[in-house]
Amino acid sequence: NIILKIEDLKVNINDKEILKGLDLEIKEGEIHALMGTNGAGKSTLVKTLSGHYDCVVNDGKITYKNKDLLEMDVTQRANEGIFMSFQSPVEVAGVNNSYFLKTAMNAKRAYEGLPEMDAMEFLKVTKEETAKFNIDRKLLQRDLNDGFSGGEKKRNELIQLLMLKPDLIMLDEIDSGLDVDAIKTVANVINSMLDGKKSILMITHYDRLLELIKPDFVHILHDGKIVKTGDYTLALELDEKGYEAIGINDVNK
Ligand code: ADP
Ligand code: MG
Ligand code: MG
Repeated sequence: NIILKIEDLKVNINDKEILKGLDLEIKEGEIHALMGTNGAGKSTLVKTLSGHYDCVVNDGKITYKNKDLLEMDVTQRANEGIFMSFQSPVEVAGVNNSYFLKTAMNAKRAYEGLPEMDAMEFLKVTKEETAKFNIDRKLLQRDLNDGFSGGEKKRNELIQLLMLKPDLIMLDEIDSGLDVDAIKTVANVINSMLDGKKSILMITHYDRLLELIKPDFVHILHDGKIVKTGDYTLALELDEKGYEAIGINDVNK
């Protein structure tokens, strides 16, 4: 079953064409890694999928769960199970993190026709989920991302993942700036969620995360398109030889 199909996608940011006719297909249960030089447009792709207002779609088609994704607003995309871990999550002072997550969860549950989860139940489930992975729950008592360290922001996104249980998980350099143990926690959380149905699109430059979460496919994004697709060994080859050795020259240089 195909969960996401992107056809000839063209996206502008600030009137500059960043994605220039990109095609990508993800089936249920597949793990895809997206690689590419700095500024290639990797973040632009996942931001476009999550419905970020920076990204102006000029052409192409995106089908998610057999529906037209481009017809959905940000909230609807989230309710339909799209989750995005941002490279730089926004800080929202004055919005309690726990309240924010409970609201997001209940919006999704209402969308799915499920009853609202009350505060007691929410507390119980967050306790259970975070305990499994030794994640500090105190983050939930603070304001959303306000003053969070890089590592805390990433851990907070893991809590969101565990609670929201999305179907399409997009991770934009979730491993950047994390120490080895934190990367392991990320991998443990992700791997625990894999049930043959959930799909992952992850952006990473680092081998370590790919070793722990083995992708089925590795794509290279270059000049606004996916120019090469391979299996896990493509990531290894890249790590060993670099982009130029496989015929990709950085257009931004
Ligand atoms: P990557 O994630 O592959 O490093 P990005 O998708 O972040 O690349 O960026 C692709 C291109 O879009 C870059 O040239 C970047 O400078 C540009 N870009 C990204 N965000 C913005 C923005 N908010 N305003 C202007 N240009 C942007
Ligand atoms: Mg970048
Ligand atoms: Mg990026």
